[in-house]
Parts: sequence; C-alpha cells; structure tokens
Amino acid sequence: MKTFRFVKFYRKLVKHGQLRRYCNNADAKSKTEIEKIRNIGILAHIDAGKTTTTERMLFYSGTIRSMGEVHHGNTVTDYMEQERQRGITITSAAVSFPWHGSQINLIDTPGHIDFTMEVEQSLAVLDGAVVVLDASAGVEAQTLTVWRQAAGYRVPRLLYLNKMDRSDADVQRCVRSVQDRLHAQPVLLHLPVVHEDRLIGLIDLVTREEIIWTHGRGQSYTRRKLTERDGKRFEETLSNHRQLVDTLSSLDDTLADTIIQQESLDNLKSEEIDQAIRRCTIDMKAFPILCGSSYKNIGVQTLMDAVVSYLPSPLECNRLYKTFGSDLSARAFKVQHDDQGGVLTFLRLYSGELCKGQRIYNLAKEQSEQTGAVYVALADEYQPVEKVTAGNIAVVSALKTTMTGDLVTSTQAAASRAKTQLATLLKDPQQVEQLMLPSARLRLQNLEAEPTSEELASVLLGIGTTIPDPVFLCSIEPPSAAYQPALETALAELQREDPSLRVSTDEESGQIVLAGMGELHLEIIKERIIREYKIEVELGPLQIAYRESLVGRGRHSMAVDRKIGSARQMIKLTLSALTERGVAAHKVLKLDKSPESAANLAHLHPRCLATIKQGVATALLHGPKLGCPMLDVQVTLHWFEVGRGTSDSVIAATVVQCLRKVFEQAESVLLEPVMSVQVVSPESHSARVLADLGRRRALVQHITIRHHNKVIDCLAPLSELLGYSSTLRSLSSGLASFTMEFHSHQQMSPHDEEEAVRRVTGF
Ligand code: GDP
Ligand code: MG
Repeated sequence: MKTFRFVKFYRKLVKHGQLRRYCNNADAKSKTEIEKIRNIGILAHIDAGKTTTTERMLFYSGTIRSMGEVHHGNTVTDYMEQERQRGITITSAAVSFPWHGSQINLIDTPGHIDFTMEVEQSLAVLDGAVVVLDASAGVEAQTLTVWRQAAGYRVPRLLYLNKMDRSDADVQRCVRSVQDRLHAQPVLLHLPVVHEDRLIGLIDLVTREEIIWTHGRGQSYTRRKLTERDGKRFEETLSNHRQLVDTLSSLDDTLADTIIQQESLDNLKSEEIDQAIRRCTIDMKAFPILCGSSYKNIGVQTLMDAVVSYLPSPLECNRLYKTFGSDLSARAFKVQHDDQGGVLTFLRLYSGELCKGQRIYNLAKEQSEQTGAVYVALADEYQPVEKVTAGNIAVVSALKTTMTGDLVTSTQAAASRAKTQLATLLKDPQQVEQLMLPSARLRLQNLEAEPTSEELASVLLGIGTTIPDPVFLCSIEPPSAAYQPALETALAELQREDPSLRVSTDEESGQIVLAGMGELHLEIIKERIIREYKIEVELGPLQIAYRESLVGRGRHSMAVDRKIGSARQMIKLTLSALTERGVAAHKVLKLDKSPESAANLAHLHPRCLATIKQGVATALLHGPKLGCPMLDVQVTLHWFEVGRGTSDSVIAATVVQCLRKVFEQAESVLLEPVMSVQVVSPESHSARVLADLGRRRALVQHITIRHHNKVIDCLAPLSELLGYSSTLRSLSSGLASFTMEFHSHQQMSPHDEEEAVRRVTGF
C-alpha cells in the first residue's frame, strides 16, 4: 500500500514537472524548453506494431503503470470502443510523455487507408516521424503511401524495424527494400543480438556497444563495448560501423572534414557521428534504421533515444510560421467529441501562446471565437492548464467553428500582419523554393495564373486544405422522423471531426446521403452514431461515387427576356463545353479570346462573371447521366449580354439551363473510381486469388515473390471490390491480406456503364 502511494506521489511529481514545460514564461528558458520538445508521429502499414510500440513508449517513460496489449484491447491510444474491437487505430489522439529530460508529443496517426485524410492532417503538424516496418515484411503497400505523404510535408523520418524477434525477420532485406521501394538512403544503426534463437538485444553501430535487455518487462538493459575478444561479432560490428561512417561522410561535409583531419575512420567520437546522423536526418539526406521488438520489450528505449537525438525540435523547422512573430499561430489537426468535455479541438502551436478563455481568429473561416478550457493530453487524461506555449499541443474546449486543418492566430490584425510579411518574403524566389512543400506545389498547379505573392502566402499557410474525393455513398435513415434533427446534429459534429465525411440531402427523395472514403469509414460512422448518439440508424446499400464526363463537345445559345414582377430580366449567352483532363476547379470557366467574343466579353462586369462561375459550378454538380458530379469538363463563355436590373439568380439559373443543353449535345460518359490494390497471398493460394482478380476486371501490374508469398499489385474498379475482404479470406483460408487506395477515375466500357446505370436507377 505504502509503495503504491509513493508511486502515485512520484507520478504526480513527474506530471507536475511535465506540466511546467507546457506553460513556461521566461523567454530564454522557454527557448531551451522548446529545444527539448519532439512532436512526432508513428506511421506504419497496418499491423506493423504502431500501437504496441506507442504503448511501450508510454510505459518506459513512466506515464502508464501497466502495459496494454492490442489483443487484450486495453491500450491507451486505441481508446475508442470500435478500435478496441477491431484492433486497429482510427482516431489520432495526441499523447505527451517525458524522456530523459526531453518531452515527446506523440500524435497517433490512424493506420487504416480509409482514414488518409486524418493521416494527412496529423502529418501537417509533425516535426518528425517514426516509420515502423514489420522486419519480416519490409516495406509494404501502405508504407509507401505514408512515406509519400510524409515526404509531401517534408517530415524527417526514422525507420524502426519491429518484430525482430520473428525467425523470418531480415535486417538486410529490409534495408534493401528501403533503398529499392522507398528510394531512400538508409543508415543502419542497429544489428540484432540473438542467443539460442531468441532476440536478447541489439548492437549499437554508432558506439559499437552491445545492449542486452535483462529485465522481463524490458525496463533495464546493459551496455557493453565490444572488443576483439568478441571475435566474429566484433568483426561484423566493426565492418558495419565503418560502412555507417563511410555513408555518413559521403553525405555530411562536417563529418568528412573531421575524418580528413583525424586521418582515420575509427577514432571518431560517438557524438560526432550522432551529430552527423542528426544533420542528415533533418535534411532528409538519409534515414536512420533502428531495430527492436516492441512486443518482446526490446529496442523501445533506444528508439526513444533516437527520436530525441536525431529528429528536429520545433525550433528547427516550421520556418513558415516565424512570420507570426510572438503572435499565436496554431493548426487544428483533430476535433473530437468527448462525453465530459464536449467538443475538444487539438491544436499544434507554432508560435505564441494559447490561454484559456482567449479569443482566437480562424484564418480559413475568417471568424473569431473564444476558447473554453485548455488542456494538455497526458496519456490517459486531460490535464487543465492556464496556457500552452509554442511548440506544444493544446487541447481546447468550446470551439465551434474551427475544423480539422484550420489555422488560427490571435486576431485578424495578427493574421493580416503575418500574411503581408510572408507575402513580402515570398517576393524572393529563393525563399519560395525553401518554404514550398510538395503538397502546396500541387495546389499551386491548379491556380489559373501565376499566383500573386499574397495567394502564394495563403497556399503555403495551407488555408483551405484539400479534402480527398469520396468514393462511396450511402443513404442513412433515422429510426423515425422524430430522430431527424438529432441525426443532423450528430452528423454535423462528426463532420467537424472528420472533413472527409460528406453529408448531403438527396433533392428528390429528401434522404440524407453520406459520402466517405471506404466501406469501413461509413460503417464506423454508423457505429459511432448508434453508440455515442444513441440513434439506431440504418445505412442504405453502399453505392459507388461515380463521376461523369463528356465525350465530344457541345455548344448552345440561350436568350431569356421576360418580366418577373415589375423588373425586366434579359440575358443572352452562348456557352460551350468539352473534355479537358485534369482541369482544375479554378480553371473550369474560360473566356473565348477570339476577336468578336473578346470585344463582347470586355464589358463583362466582375460581379456577373462571379455569378456565371457560380452557375457553372452548380451545373457541374449533376451530370446528365446519373446526376453525379462532373469531372474533366472545360466550359467556355463566348457571348454574354445582360439587361439592367436582371437579378443574379436569373443569370445563374440561365447558365445552368444552357449548360444542361450543352452537356446533352456533347454526350456524357460515366467514370468509375479505380483503386490500386496490393494482395499478399501464399504461393499455394495465389492461382485462385489471381483468377478471382481477373473476374473483378483487375489489371495486374506486377507480381513479386516475398518469402513464400506472392505480392500482387493491380488496378481494379472499386465496384468490383465490394466485400472483397471476406472473399479473399475464404479463397485463401485467411492467409492472404490486401490493401487498397484510390488511384483515379476512369471511363467505363459501354457494357459496364449500362450495368452501373441499371444498378443505380433500377432500369
Ligand atoms: P498496428 O496495427 O500497427 O497498431 O499494430 P499493433 O501494435 O496492433 O500490432 C499488430 C500485431 O502485431 C499484434 O498482434 C501485436 O501483438 C503484434 N506485434 C507487435 N509488435 C510485435 C513484435 O515486436 N513482435 C511480434 N512477434 N509481434 C508483434
Ligand atoms: Mg494500432
């Protein structure tokens, strides 16, 4: 009992010490405090061991007293009930814990492909990431996806080869797969130590020490420098150590200089090597590879050491937000509805501080609102604090307009100050190059003209991030009409948590329609409504989110001249449309530049143009075939005349009517979502799996062999993949697995299209 109380007291002390770090005042002091922060995420292919590794980190940092296991369903980060049942991580929760004088803020990114939106949002606020690989599988399909995303946000990464306890774990094969599939420069820092077929420790290739875990739950371990007396193990370590130094010195000039001065590869201090690794990691010239087995409690502490040693502090990145100076700048990366706390918004602070009851200004929504209580997330609880400072994660209650992805500051004045300053900075092309993220570059490609430096500033600050297109639709029904308002509220709340969920109302049937990223995505929304909002909803059959496009071109003129009330409404216009692959939303409407049209359109009032654009956007929402949104359509305005006093709504309605005619003339086609699928199947079952994929209109791209498995990469229409997981299970006696992600929308064959139309309309 006594020891228990002591432990509790000690935990309080630790937490108190931790708390001080979130709310520091003195500037000089807070700078050194910020240097000690690591905002990281753990990214992985499903089942690589993300949850297990997180749980071990919390345990060894003293934040939790007992270790949960995924298969017991009692881990801290998988706290939502469905997650416990399914054994997967869906919601990204932030957790903070101390490690050897530093503080690690861990943002738990969801591992399932249906939730890429959340993965992206959390990546945007990370300073570094640990990519977990299953050492027996190496780089897997989803490793590639998260790797690409992390590269898009320029997040420095460490690789952790988990499951080194497995007999089929293979370090060298993993290193090769990092080179070949991720096209990244690996630097191997560990080798396993195996004794009587059991993993007992690691060799640290930087220090040339052997680390052996002695305690059952892995709390204690010993380090011992290897010497010549260790024979083969020493030789192997030395040669790998030299290779490590050799690789590093080819990437890092400072280390190369040191080696030249010392005239030897073997006399480097460990700190010198560590610093070179740190520089290379932060510059993303190289990616350190660590080993371990989280489940067997080996290598987790060394992984945390590496996070602190090699990944950047908030001061070393996020230059973009320096333009906010000492004003608050923070990004919301998660909105959550909590039974006690109500709406909780997770904010990553880049600069300034956030107090409870403070007014904040949302740059995306151009609105102010007031924070309620402010908390920090310590493993299993939210601890209320007065304020949270730069570099940290704040959990804020009572925000109503701020959604996942939004950037906030203190006031509107602070927002325009920062934007102006950033715009000035961006006049220098070199700065643009340095501050540009590949993800922002993608958005810029969609802009019509060369962006002004103000536009550039908005894009770089990620104001209005893009949400991926949904691929599935289904209707949702409350048990009775009395539940309709409650359902609408629930959906509005869920949508704020997860902007990739779209909610709309079918004009004809009045039904609420959900659109999402996958079967599981919508299924989980349903379960949450039933469990958290106590509304027994039913989902309609799952439908594919088709798109429509045009085959040919069409052109139509329309004239309206009539009296509505006392006002005369007069419009004459000519519009045409044709297919233009990849046309960006901003560029959909073009003005005819031929002399005759140009002379007419020169008088077009900007307000009319805006109204016409609105009409075009409305018309494109519903294609002529199945009423699906239209894609890859370019509209040109050739002629426009309008009488005085004609209302905007009449202009917009005429544009819509005219375009309907144009689309009819041009003839339309259905586009279906095509997924890129990877199936891993034992060779013994692969023939059946392949035959089945053939029936699903899959286009096999390549097949590789891994162990006794065939890895099949293919493209397949989403409509053929409904319920694929259960089919695959029965085809392979549960031995095969698959992952998929959205690839593109593609035109269907006339036969398939007919089939799809029949499925949707019933005839
Ligand atoms: P996540 O999907 O990435 O979160 O992975 P989990 O942590 O849920 O782990 C998936 C499965 O792998 C679970 O059954 C774990 O017990 C198991 N696992 C995790 N780490 C290890 C490890 O180091 N060795 C072995 N053999 N199994 C592990
Ligand atoms: Mg998990």
